[in-house]
Amino acid sequence: MGRKRVLITGGAGFLGSHLCDRFLKEGYHVIAMDNLITGSLANIEHLFKEQHFEFYHHDVSKFVFVPGKLDYILHFASPASPIDYLKIPIQTLKVGSLGTHNLLGLARVKHARMLIASTSEVYGDPEIHPQVEEYWGHVNPVGPRGCYDEAKRFQEAITMAYHMHHGLETRIIRIFNTYGPRMRLDDGRVLPAFLSQALRGEPLSIFGDGSQTRSFCYVDDLVEGIYRLLLCDYALPVNIGNPSEITIKEFAEEISKLAGVELNIKYQPLPENDPQRRRPDITKAKEILGWEPKVDRAEGLRRTYEFFKDKV
Ligand code: NAD
Repeated sequence: MGRKRVLITGGAGFLGSHLCDRFLKEGYHVIAMDNLITGSLANIEHLFKEQHFEFYHHDVSKFVFVPGKLDYILHFASPASPIDYLKIPIQTLKVGSLGTHNLLGLARVKHARMLIASTSEVYGDPEIHPQVEEYWGHVNPVGPRGCYDEAKRFQEAITMAYHMHHGLETRIIRIFNTYGPRMRLDDGRVLPAFLSQALRGEPLSIFGDGSQTRSFCYVDDLVEGIYRLLLCDYALPVNIGNPSEITIKEFAEEISKLAGVELNIKYQPLPENDPQRRRPDITKAKEILGWEPKVDRAEGLRRTYEFFKDKV
């Protein structure tokens, strides 16, 4: 029979590298592919000694091929934080569209099952709360975030078309804010931003009045959800995230406490089209995957702080 072989695009990124770890641990042969545009080899250098790990330095928006059989493709390549995708909007649109198309083609040739990393951003600035998978979203296609949100909406649409038209086995995960070790300190997302500011003794930057909410999922919980979704037989989108909601102001308080510094805030104008509220409805994940988050925020933040504390 031999080992199952999985291709993980974006394998040198934050989530992709944790997926490489998990699939190796489960006994798979892991092929990571990444052009390192926002990722780093530091995230996977511990894997280069593994016999069942390979790395391809490649842009998946160009033609993609890997020799040998493939059982699964996990398409995680894409800039993910606003600071990145606002700098490289065209590459972001290309990896969501051309990249996804290339990988769907590869999945067809290899008779592989393909899972795509979609996002809660497909809901835009949502008018319903919490967000269920049936909600079609409230996205501004020509706003600054349109390059990411619409790339992901197109990615879902073309994946579904391959599923319906070609009978390809596909899975769609809608990931809500996830955090943990290996995030980049300068990626502009709220958690690394707060942590690095707290560790440098600077005021924490809050955009708007801090009443907007987010929910944060610890990376190990997300990886478990992805693993279960890949192996189940459900082809429609599934939300994976932590429904525990917190205002950005409260979050700033938690981070200051964790870093042992006094709360000091610098308020800045809210960026355009920034969603006010975000919380996943995870009923489907519970029913279909028997999944729910296990790591609470206090524990997840502690583990993340341990990773960041020597890096500032
Ligand atoms: P990341 O930036 O750390 O990882 C993305 C990886 O993709 C990087 O290593 C980057 O170099 C690589 N990449 C980008 N374009 C590429 C291309 N054309 N060819 C090959 N490699 C390319 O981001 P992340 O947080 O790990 O996000 C991974 C995926 O999960 C993304 O698709 C993102 O949209 C999705 N996602 C993440 C979150 C989150 O909270 N982290 C939430 C929703 C969705």
